This record gives sequence, C-alpha cells and structure tokens, in this order.
Amino acid sequence: MTGRLIVLTGPSGVGKGTLLKALLERHPELYLSISATTRLPREGEVEGVHYYFYPRDRFEATIEAGALLEWAEFAGNYYGTPIEPVRAQIDRGNSVILEIELAGARQVAKIFPTALRIFILPPDIATLETRIRERGTDSAAAIERRLAQATVEIAAQDEFDYRIVNDDFELALDELDRLVTG
Ligand code: 5GP
Repeated sequence: MTGRLIVLTGPSGVGKGTLLKALLERHPELYLSISATTRLPREGEVEGVHYYFYPRDRFEATIEAGALLEWAEFAGNYYGTPIEPVRAQIDRGNSVILEIELAGARQVAKIFPTALRIFILPPDIATLETRIRERGTDSAAAIERRLAQATVEIAAQDEFDYRIVNDDFELALDELDRLVTG
C-alpha cells in the first residue's frame, strides 16, 4: 500500500501551522514534510524541525541537483520540499502532508494528480490582515508582500479539491481531520 500525498495551502497568517500541529497530535502516524527555505528563522524556530534553513547558494544547488519535489519564491525567499523523505514515507505507506504556497501546490498537482489538495481560508480578509500584522515577526515590507500574496492565493481557492474556513478552530480541525483521514 502506498501512502497519500496531501497538500495544504492557504494565505500566510490563516493558521495552517496551528491546525497542522493539532492534527498531528491527533494522528502521530501522519508525516509532515519539513521544507527547506532561505528565510531566516523566526524566534523559536528550530533547524530540522520547522525548516531546513539554507543560504541561497545552497538552495539553488539543491534545485539544480533535482532534489526538490517542488519549490517557489515567496515574499522574497525560496521555499521547497526535499523529495527524498516524501518518497520514502509514501513508499512505506504513510500519508505525507505538504504545507506549501500556491505555486508549489500547482507543481504538485501536475506531478501527483492524485494528491489531495486542501485550501484553508480566513473568515475574512480583515481577520487575516490583523493576524499577519500581530504576529510581529516580519518586517513592514515582508508584511505587505504577504498581504498582497494572500489576495492572489485566495483568488485561486477554486483550484483545490476542498476548502476549509478557519473561523471556529475546532470545527476547522475536525473538518481537516475528516478529509485527511477519511
Ligand atoms: P512562512 O515564511 O510563513 O513560514 O511561509 C511562507 C509561505 O511559504 C507559506 O505559505 C508556506 O505554506 C509556504 N511554504 C513553506 N514551505 C514551503 C515549501 O516547501 N514549498 C512551497 N512552495 N511553499 C512553502
């Protein structure tokens, strides 16, 4: 049996990370892919746990080597999914979750048409804006880029198999759980 590939996308600040953390507590058998990025670590982020933090030249060499399943530039940094751990987990029959932005989700849809693609929506744009601004970890310029990108991503929501509105957290979590494990 091979595992399923699940793609979770949604604008920055929508709460994907918090939903996934809670989902993995319920289902430790799920494997969350750890991405590589050229973004600097936020406070509390740990190398190899939240991301692999690469300098740009190393990231570009990794692209060249064909070692990424997908990659994209987002708000001025590279982000990508190392292919090997994903392949290994799928081969072992484990489901793998990729938490990635829109361009990456589109690449995965081409390579793995059977991947389950889920889009997380905010209750409304104002809520999202507040969440991004209050996170307080990004520069003003980065916040503006993330807000602009959020509009682009939300406009593409219909490309996804399922959409979940993250308004009531527990309801959103139950729905995600049902889709991922169903
Ligand atoms: P953040 O900087 O907030 O951690 O992530 C910014 C955006 O990059 C988020 O939308 C996140 O889902 C996305 N992202 C994280 N890892 C990857 C990846 O490996 N590939 C792609 N395409 N996007 C990613």
